[in-house]
Amino acid sequence: MVLTVSDIKQFVYCRRVVYFTYNLPIRRPTTYKMEEGKLEHDHVASLEERRSLKAYGIGEGEREFNVSLFSPRLGLSGKLDMVIKSGGEVIPVDFKNSGGGVELNHKYQLTAYALLVEDRWNRPVRRGFIYLVPQKKAQEVAITPNMRLFVHRVLADAREMIETEAMPPATRQKQHCRDCEFRNFCNEE
Ligand code: SF4
Repeated sequence: MVLTVSDIKQFVYCRRVVYFTYNLPIRRPTTYKMEEGKLEHDHVASLEERRSLKAYGIGEGEREFNVSLFSPRLGLSGKLDMVIKSGGEVIPVDFKNSGGGVELNHKYQLTAYALLVEDRWNRPVRRGFIYLVPQKKAQEVAITPNMRLFVHRVLADAREMIETEAMPPATRQKQHCRDCEFRNFCNEE
């Protein structure tokens, strides 16, 4: 079963979001916030094309935007906002429209992109960046062995959950329910 990088992010946020996405015959609601997020991503990508790589502490490099990635080995796909190729390194960059800074699920999402980038370019990825759009700031994230292991575990757990159709418990972080697009299907808000 092919999962997406976004599934990894959602699974860490709340397992039930992934359950609703795959196990319930409902159309995933497209919220105003999601539409706005996409427009903002496209806008940032067009601005980034004209900027230097100074925000990333990198002198020279080549950039690719909206890179579609797929690994049959991992059963994982995703569309990465930007890749920087510099001095033999290939570095994944994810744009985030989050005023609250970098969260744990964002780091695991970036790790999943790093695994896909490694498969595509056949080079080890030791770091990536999360570009925080509101703050116009790039935060470097080290891609550690433990983070890689965690992503592999999430992939296995998510597949098992989907295959067994076992509804997982709700997130214990109730603040996540406030902005959740599935809150109308879930009695946990
Ligand atoms: S409403 Fe809360 S518990 Fe339910 S799916 Fe959304 S985040 Fe998870």
